[in-house]
Amino acid sequence: MEVNTGIIVQPLHRYNREQDCMEALIAMKWPNGFVCPRCAYTRCSQLTSRRIPLFECGKCAHQTSALVGTIFEGTRLPLLKWFHALELFLLPDGISAMRLHRVIRVTYKTAWLMLHKIRHAVGEFDAREILSGDVKVNSDTYGYDPSRCKLSQPHASAVIAGCTVTESGEPEQVKIQLIPHKRGRENRATRHELTAFINDHVDARISEVHSFPLAFQLYSPLRKVVREAWVSLKSTYIALGPKHLQAYLNEYTLRRRLYLLGAREAMHEKLLCLCVAIPAIPYSQLIMHHPSRPLSAVA
Ligand SMILES: [Zn+2]
Repeated sequence: MEVNTGIIVQPLHRYNREQDCMEALIAMKWPNGFVCPRCAYTRCSQLTSRRIPLFECGKCAHQTSALVGTIFEGTRLPLLKWFHALELFLLPDGISAMRLHRVIRVTYKTAWLMLHKIRHAVGEFDAREILSGDVKVNSDTYGYDPSRCKLSQPHASAVIAGCTVTESGEPEQVKIQLIPHKRGRENRATRHELTAFINDHVDARISEVHSFPLAFQLYSPLRKVVREAWVSLKSTYIALGPKHLQAYLNEYTLRRRLYLLGAREAMHEKLLCLCVAIPAIPYSQLIMHHPSRPLSAVA
C-alpha cells in the first residue's frame, strides 16, 4: 500500500470499496434502521444517484445522509482514504500528518486536518467517559527524562493522571490531564487541582479513590503509563508545544485503551463508532485551538 515511509498497513479486507465504507457508516448511524433526525419517522426513500446516498424522510421530506453529524460531514475525500487514515491512527505510536499525507496521497494540509478531526472526536469521547470503581490519581510530570535528572528540563509539564485498575492492579482506563501553566520538572499540580480533577473526571458515588500527591510516592503502574505516553508521542511527533499536547495525550490514552480490546477489527470498529457519534469540529474552531500557524507544526 505504501511507498517510501516504512509503514505497511493493509486496509481491513471488509473495506475494499467506497460502497463498503458507506454501508458501514449507514449501519453504525442507524443500527435499527433509518430514523429521521427532524421528526423521528422511520420510513424513507433513498436517493442513490449521488456520490453520497441521501435519505428522504417519508413524512417531513427532510433529506439527510449517514455523514451528517459525524467527523466525515462535508468531506470531499473518498471514504476509503478516511478509513485508511483511521487504520494508521491506530498504529502503536500513531502517525504524523507528514507521513499520512505520503501514505494515503492527500496534501499535507488535508492530512493535518483529518488527524485533528479524529483527535477532536477522541477528545470529546474521552471527556464523556469518566472513571469509576477502583481509581488511582497521581500528581505527575509529563516529559521528565530520568536519564537527564540533573538538568532543569523546562519542557516537562505538570499533569494529573488518573486510572481505573484491573484486579491485578494494572491501569485500565487512563486519563492524563495537562496543567498547562505549570512547566518545568519542579512544577506540580496542587492538592486543589488534584481535587478538581477528581470532581470532573471521577464518579465519586461509586468509586474508591486513592490520590498520590507526592512526587516520591506515586502509584507506579500509572506513572509508567505517563512515561510510555511521552516515549510514544515523541517518537512520532518529535516536538509538541503545550497548545497541542492535551489532544495528543487524549489520543495516546484512547489508543492504549483500544489496544486492550485486542483484535484489530474491534479497535477499528470502536474508533469508527466514536467518529460517527461526534460531529466534526468546524475548521474555524480547529485553528482557534491552534492559533500559531497550525499547518507549519511538525506534527
Ligand atoms: Zn422527518
